Parts: sequence; C-alpha cells; structure tokens
Amino acid sequence: MIPVSKTNILIKMDIERAVHILKRARYVVVMTGAGVSAESGIPTFRGEGGLWRNYRPEELATPYAFARNPKLVWEWYEWRREIIRRAEPNPAHYAIRDMEDLFENFFLITQNVDDLHRKAGNRKLVEFHGNIFREKCTVCDFRRVHYEKHETLPPLCPQCGNFLRPDVVWFGEPIPHDVLEISERHILRTEVLISVGTSAVVQPAASFISIAKGLGKTVIEVNLTPTPATGLVDISIQGKAGEILPKIVEGLKR
Ligand code: NAD
Ligand code: ZN
Repeated sequence: MIPVSKTNILIKMDIERAVHILKRARYVVVMTGAGVSAESGIPTFRGEGGLWRNYRPEELATPYAFARNPKLVWEWYEWRREIIRRAEPNPAHYAIRDMEDLFENFFLITQNVDDLHRKAGNRKLVEFHGNIFREKCTVCDFRRVHYEKHETLPPLCPQCGNFLRPDVVWFGEPIPHDVLEISERHILRTEVLISVGTSAVVQPAASFISIAKGLGKTVIEVNLTPTPATGLVDISIQGKAGEILPKIVEGLKR
C-alpha cells in the first residue's frame, strides 16, 4: 500500500468540510487572485517568473512609473499581454465556471486582468482590477478593447493624440466606484466566501476576507502557501487551485 502522508489526509478532510458547508449554501462568492492563473503559465506578481528585466511589478504597475517612463511600462504590458494571449483556462477556472451553475446565487470577484474566467465561461463576474486588453486615454474619455500587439509604444489616442494606457488599476489608484459597489453588495449578501490564489495583501480586495468574517460569513481559503488571512478564515486548504477546486466541485456533484 502506498503510504499517505498526514498532510494529504488533512487536505482531504479540509476539502470534505468545505463541501459539507457549500452543499447547504445558497449564496457563494468566489474571489480570485493571480494564483488561479499560475497553472495556465501566467506568472504571479510575487511568485517565480514575476520579475521582468529585474523590475518588480510594484515598480511598474504605478501611475508614477508610467509618468516617468511610459514606454518601459508599455513594454512590460506587451510582454504580459503576449503570455496571456497564448494562455488557456486551467481546471481551476473550469471548476469556478461549474460553481456558477451549482449555486442559486453566485458571484465572482477576480483581481486578475487576464480574461481567463470569461474564456472558461463565467458570466457573473466583476474584474476588480480591470482587463489587460482594455485601454484608455490618459487625457480624454477614449476607451477601447485592443487585443493585437501594438506597432509602436506607447500607443496614441486616435481621438486626441495623447498616450493611451492599460485600463487596469495600478498600485495607489482607487477601484472604480461601480466595481467596488457591486463587489461590496455581494460580500454583504453572501453566505460563503471562497478566496483562491490571492496573497491577501493587495487592498482593498484583501479586506473582503476580514469584512466577511466580521459579518459572520464562512470563509474558505485555497492557496499554495499560508497567507496573512490564513489565521482568520474558517477553512484553509493548502494546495494547487487546479487540483483542489475540481475536487470540491466533484464533492458538490456527488
Ligand atoms: P500575488 O502574485 O500577490 O499572489 C499570488 C498568490 O497565489 C500567492 O499567495 C501564491 O501563494 C498563490 N498561488 C500561486 N500559485 C498557486 C496555485 N497554483 N494555486 C493556488 N494558489 C497559488 O497575486 P494577487 O494576490 O492576485 O495580487 C497581485 C495583483 O496583481 C492582483 O491584483 C492582480 O490584478 C495582478 N496580477 C494579475 C495577474 C493575472 O491577471 N493573471 C497576474 C499577476 C498579477
Ligand atoms: Zn484621447
């Protein structure tokens, strides 16, 4: 017989506890971070492969970096856009897609900008930090979705000629009001919050975990490693999102 490590048994028990709670839940909110897309080959910000030309993402994803060197910031975005264009959803995305149908009320708050949840088929979602294929003018109200590689960087606004920028939320920028409002509404109403693949340090998304706990909701965390939220949540399942989430969905369908 193959020996089963205690860790595996504990993880299995955590999954069963999560399934038990979720089977009774009528309202479920899932919040995802970069870890959900790691198994699709998209580097997280804080994990391996997050570095580009020795810059940390915190040095590039800011309005100050863009003001200082818009070409450099755009080059980094083109590099990321190219990786994301080639990426496909992984079993974690498909499990979250299945969850949309399994619960009476479901909502997904994603911090990812990569479009993979939509590609997997989720429709009830908000992109908390925007979308890497959307861009907006730094001066006028021009916005567009632009999937192709840019010929020259930075791309210019066809309406006023000023620089375009990625329509994503950078460090130090506020979350758009309507996005924050819809997210808060679902956090207030939900019974269970499942937080997947997020380092739980980027605000205000990270605060949803403590807010949900404060409101007496059940919070389940799925992450490769412990996070600052681990001590706070009801169930913390350690492992790859692409392995854990399909097991939860399997349990829910049993
Ligand atoms: P992060 O990079 O700070 O943290 C990623 C988390 O995922 C870590 O806690 C890590 O332990 C965990 N993780 C890594 N691989 C995993 C796996 N296979 N299964 C489960 N967990 C795994 O990411 P964040 O918390 O999302 O915050 C960074 C910000 O950067 C986000 O706001 C997001 O918008 C942006 N970002 C997006 C993408 C994307 O769209 N794919 C990629 C990188 C960063
Ligand atoms: Zn313009």
